[in-house]
Amino acid sequence: MTFKEMNLHPTLLEGMDAMGFEKPTPIQEQAIPICLGGKDMIGIAQTGTGKTAAFVLPTIHKVLSTPDESKIKTLIIVPTRELAVQIDQAIEGFAYFTGISSMAIYGGGDGKEFKQEKTALTSGIDIVIATPGRMISHLNLGYVDFSQLQTLILDEADRMLDMGFQRDLQRILDHVNKDRQTLFFSATMPSKIMDFAKGILKSPEVVKIALSKPAEGVLQGAYVLHQSQKPEMLVELFKGKDVKSAIVFSSTKKNVINIHRILKRAGISTGAISSDLEQKEREEVLLQFKNRRIAVLVATDVVSRGIDIDNIELVVNYDVPGDAEDYVHRIGRTARASATGVGITFVSQDEQYKFLKIEELIGSEIRKLQAPERLGETPEYKPKSGGGQRRFGNKGRGGNQKNKGKFSKGKGGNNSKRKPRPKKGE
Ligand code: ADP
Ligand code: MG
Repeated sequence: MTFKEMNLHPTLLEGMDAMGFEKPTPIQEQAIPICLGGKDMIGIAQTGTGKTAAFVLPTIHKVLSTPDESKIKTLIIVPTRELAVQIDQAIEGFAYFTGISSMAIYGGGDGKEFKQEKTALTSGIDIVIATPGRMISHLNLGYVDFSQLQTLILDEADRMLDMGFQRDLQRILDHVNKDRQTLFFSATMPSKIMDFAKGILKSPEVVKIALSKPAEGVLQGAYVLHQSQKPEMLVELFKGKDVKSAIVFSSTKKNVINIHRILKRAGISTGAISSDLEQKEREEVLLQFKNRRIAVLVATDVVSRGIDIDNIELVVNYDVPGDAEDYVHRIGRTARASATGVGITFVSQDEQYKFLKIEELIGSEIRKLQAPERLGETPEYKPKSGGGQRRFGNKGRGGNQKNKGKFSKGKGGNNSKRKPRPKKGE
């Protein structure tokens, strides 16, 4: 299906053309007709799949199809000001030839900005993109008229609830036209959000685009450890084994240097790259790694995307990536092109909750492996109980002992369909 076949307004199509939008992404293909049809909707698709246009395009079309009465027609609520600005810019691009007005309304700034926002709100701007707190500040002053609101959109709904915006959202909902269409967009949809959504939406359609999961051939496992046990566990993974090509990832540059040092001291052939190094040095290390003169590459996430090195046997996440999708990207370095590979993650107590988020994202539990006994007592995997809090006491030995030495297999997904991750304003 093309955008044209969706019968979008001609002036909107012009703007899309200028922005290089030719073919809809899967979430757009499914969501846009539903949005145009006027039904409530929940759209779930991972970051970078084009959710913005999925709700912005039908919204602009709808505004264009109704007479201008100088009333606010669309409210888009987002968790952060960066996102508000980003969406506003996208709208400006799409709506360039339409005469539609929009404004991003967010916290910070000075009194002058607040005044400008007030003017825009009272003069009836077509589309408002707002962070919850700022929206409420304006609502409290009584001049915002949402009586003609056609569409209410919550973007990154998962993050908004994570950030504790639920009450704020509820208060905004109290102010908006009951007759409106409501759209929820999110990268994930845990049951907490589903419940919240169901309380707000009227018999919504749910569109869910499957996540690009780690490739079929990746065997995934995790060691649940104390932070202090990680260096020893790392050496254990490589010492005396004939690993020819592995990457160890860490989120911080400082850790990259430390890990590199630990491996070197243990006599393992290693090289490190991080964004601190000059481009030339980075290329040199990468070349050595490619040519198998270095067995273990230690790196930050800068190399987890884009680098094209085949036959990596093992990927180690020395720490749990902060962004669950980075996990997928990191693990994606191994088992390319139908080869098999292994992805191991070290999970400290503070990282258990983050790791649970990854398991939720990829939709399967990652096998917990048992560390060698001489490392001593290891923590239990209880991501829900402590929320990353340190717990003391005699919990006994070993994480999940029954899973000794086994791995869980990635469920496999259509990696071929994957869009490159966009540059986001983060
Ligand atoms: P999400 O909200 O799902 O994370 P975005 O809406 O931010 O994703 O889109 C990611 C990137 O892809 C943006 O740079 C956007 O301009 C681009 N994009 C989205 N849909 C299309 C499309 N149909 N054609 C071309 N580029 C697109
Ligand atoms: Mg988005």
